[in-house]
Order: sequence, then C-alpha cells, then structure tokens
Amino acid sequence: MLGEQGGARNLTTKPSRVDLHCHTTASDGELAPEKLVAQAASLGIQVLAITDHDTTEGLPAALKEAERWDITVVPGVEISTISGREEIHLLGFFVDLADRELEAMLARTQEARRQRAQQMLMRLANLGLPIEWERVVEISGGGGSIGRPHVAETLREAGHVSSYDEAFDLWIGRDCPAYVERHKLLPEEAIRLIRQSGGLPVLAHPYAYNRYGQRRAGLDLKQWLPRLREAGLEGIEVYYPHYPRSASRHLLGLAVRHGLVITGGSDFHGGLLNNGLGRVPVPWAVWEGLERRRRMMEVSSETGLQAHPGPTSGSAPSQVVT
Ligand code: AMP
Ligand code: MN
Ligand code: MN
Ligand code: MN
Repeated sequence: MLGEQGGARNLTTKPSRVDLHCHTTASDGELAPEKLVAQAASLGIQVLAITDHDTTEGLPAALKEAERWDITVVPGVEISTISGREEIHLLGFFVDLADRELEAMLARTQEARRQRAQQMLMRLANLGLPIEWERVVEISGGGGSIGRPHVAETLREAGHVSSYDEAFDLWIGRDCPAYVERHKLLPEEAIRLIRQSGGLPVLAHPYAYNRYGQRRAGLDLKQWLPRLREAGLEGIEVYYPHYPRSASRHLLGLAVRHGLVITGGSDFHGGLLNNGLGRVPVPWAVWEGLERRRRMMEVSSETGLQAHPGPTSGSAPSQVVT
C-alpha cells in the first residue's frame, strides 16, 4: 500500500521524521489506530499526530500502541467548521481526551454527521444512485465519524461512479446535487473548545492544491488570519501535500507576521486518498517549536499572563519558527 503514493512535487523519497496530520479508521482513514502507529514507526517516523475528523476515539489505542515503539504520538483532532461559504478545518494538538465539553461537542457532531450522510443518501437515491446506509456504516469502520469519503467509496463499490474522485466531482462535492451541508460550527467556537481542553489550535491546509501543483481553492487569509488569531488561533499548517515551495514560503511569512507557530503533515488517509504517510518533509524544528509553544501556553494559563504578543502588539519572529 505504501508503494501506491502519489507523485507530488514536494514529496521526498525518505519519510519525514515528523508527521503532524493523519487519519485512522476512527474517521475516514484506512488503517486502524494501532496499525497506523506501527506503520509510522516502521517508516522511521518519530513524532506522529493523529488528527481524526471530529473524533478522538482512535487515540487511546494509538497511545497504547506507541508504548511498544520508539515513537511519540501526539493526541490531536481535526474539527470541521463553516462560516458563511467558507469551510475551515482546525487542528487541535495535545487535546485532553477526557475534556467533557469537547467530548460533548464531538458526540453532537458525530450524530449530525450521521443524519447528514443519510440525507445525502436520500438525495442520491432520488437521483438514481441508491446505496445502502448499512454499507456506508460498514465502510466507515462501524461508526465513528462518518463522512463523504465513505459515501464516495460506497458509490464506487456499487458501480454508480468509476472512481472515488468522480463521486466528489459529480455528486457529493460542494455545489454538487447530492451535497448536504454539515452541521455548522463556527471556527471561533472550535478554537475556544480546543483551547479550553488544553489544546493548541492550528489552521489546517489554508490552501488546496491538486496533485499537479495547481491551486484549487483557499481562504482569504488577509481577512481570516487576524480574525482567527483574535479568537485564539496559535498556529498554521505550512507543509502539506502538493504545496509548492512558494506556497509554504508564503504561509511561513504569514506565520511570522501573525505570531503563529507552524505545523505540517501528510494528511494521510490510507487507500481512499493517496497522500503517503510521512511523505511531506516537515523539519524537526517544527516539532520543537510546537512543543515550545505548548509549554508557553501552559505557563500563561497557570500565571494568567499572555504567553506571546497578539497580532496587534507586534509579534517577534523568533517566537515562531526557531
Ligand atoms: P466531510 O467532512 O464528510 O464533508 O468530508 C470531507 C472529506 O472528504 C475531506 O476531509 C477529504 O478527505 C474528502 N474530500 C473533500 N472534497 C474532496 C474532493 N473534491 N475530492 C476528494 N476527496 C475530497
Ligand atoms: Mn478526510
Ligand atoms: Mn481537512
Ligand atoms: Mn485531515
């Protein structure tokens, strides 16, 4: 399976030692948490953040498996939010799995995801593409966070589309006839929940590039970064599959300007999407910077002091990347 990785421009031949973005069967990844950890360790990855969509359910098994290997597993989550027409994904690193408020929000989101997927199935049936709900659940690994990738895979399996991408391009992508919008959680609310559970909120993949390095979509960061920073954003994902160097460089500049820590990862999902685990080069210093920022946040929450200047008080670049 690892041989199937796509040929993006920013992929290295040797896996990175740091991968801060990946998914397991708890959401739409192909590998069970234990398998993912074992595979990462055998590839030589030393720090792996598991960031399933809207769930932390895969983490206990992953953390347990990590004890058997020379690997650090960072407990994370990727929360999908919507504001107006924008879909914004926020990564939360070092979240507390026992936090009641975060847990309650994630449980509500999962229920909403189930209802939304069922609505999409109704639309698909009306469009002449019936699929079984039970099969979608099975493909999702029996519950957890059900998403469009599971619907896409079920459509492919039923022969209604010839590929996973075609399902998104024709039927369930945004603006497509069977698309149903997800439960609306505002990015500011996700940032607040991540922070209050002890986590460090990071803006995920601010831009989207396809495998040919062409820009597909992206946020208006001039507008969004000050707004999200004000809400408590601590970081921005700078290294991501298919990002040309110019995009990472540009995002790095924004991180410095807005006093944000930087992260990066493969967004590995296994077979459904072909980003290779550890295949996005993430410098070791990124991990050190993330840990340092976490310690700063802990100190500031203990003393009640702000650990770093906000966007309006002039942020020092040395606090960001070093
Ligand atoms: P959901 O959270 O259920 O809306 O599904 C979003 C997930 O679907 C993303 O995290 C990707 O894994 C996948 N996805 C979204 N858009 C596309 C697309 N155009 N092509 C392939 N996969 C996609
Ligand atoms: Mn996904
Ligand atoms: Mn995402
Ligand atoms: Mn992701």
